[in-house]
Amino acid sequence: MQLIESIPAMKEVSHRLQSAGSLGFVPTMGYLHEGHLSLVDTSVKENPHTVASIFVNPAQFGKNEDLSTYPRDLERDLKHLQARGVDYVFYPQASDIYPEDYGTWVDVDKLGDLHCGKSRPGHFRGVTTIVLKLVNIIMPGFMYMGAKDFQQLVILQKMLQDLNLDTQIVPCPIVREDDGLAMSSRNTYLDKDERKRALCLSQALAHSQQLFKDGVRDSRQLIKAAAEIINKAGGQIDYIECVHPQSLLPVEVAEADTRMLMAVYIGRTRLIDNAPMA
Ligand code: AMP
Repeated sequence: MQLIESIPAMKEVSHRLQSAGSLGFVPTMGYLHEGHLSLVDTSVKENPHTVASIFVNPAQFGKNEDLSTYPRDLERDLKHLQARGVDYVFYPQASDIYPEDYGTWVDVDKLGDLHCGKSRPGHFRGVTTIVLKLVNIIMPGFMYMGAKDFQQLVILQKMLQDLNLDTQIVPCPIVREDDGLAMSSRNTYLDKDERKRALCLSQALAHSQQLFKDGVRDSRQLIKAAAEIINKAGGQIDYIECVHPQSLLPVEVAEADTRMLMAVYIGRTRLIDNAPMA
């Protein structure tokens, strides 16, 4: 496995890999867990070469968010990536990605303003911009992304389609801890009591799925039931919505592929989770 820090060096390798068959790419912000590594495993299985990137992207953090405290451990990440068969790790400097005179941003209309976009203005503009830059540098055939960040996945699919890029996103399922908590680098912020209470997100989703199975179709009722579980655990709800899986617009009547999306503060930590109704 080779660590590549410069953009020209990464481009040179990418050009070379183009002729060697399909290239899989796993973009991450590091501090890797089994959720990230499941994407790596799928890419390694499906492509002759896999590139993973580690870049804590300043452009997707708001002014009062956790950019400076975001967990990092490059050495540990590299060990994991090597063990899972990654060929190249792209680890660029923020000053190379966003030089002082940097001025181009990518915005996906409408989708980027909903849900997480409402509470994190500018967040998705930062995400789409860095992913487009990484796609241009690495030129992967396939990019492996987790359904954990469902809104991000839909926005990036729209961006690739709108901009006629050849890279295809391969959506991968959410990996959870044994008790149901969706794995996230931010789970490390939770203290012991918060870690227990954080279970309310997956429990609320599971409860809504059960209600749907029992015949409940009214989104308001499903959301109310989920909210009750979260309130009881002392979670602060940022939003809970039942949405169409492509438009991400709220639906009144839930169907099997309706996605329940939620963002909830457990203490000071903002967690997201989602699930289809069936
Ligand atoms: P991040 O490092 O948080 O930017 O995440 C990098 C990629 O890993 C994104 O495509 C995420 O959706 C994916 N990911 C993060 N957590 C999980 C998880 N628990 N299960 C599956 N994929 C995940």
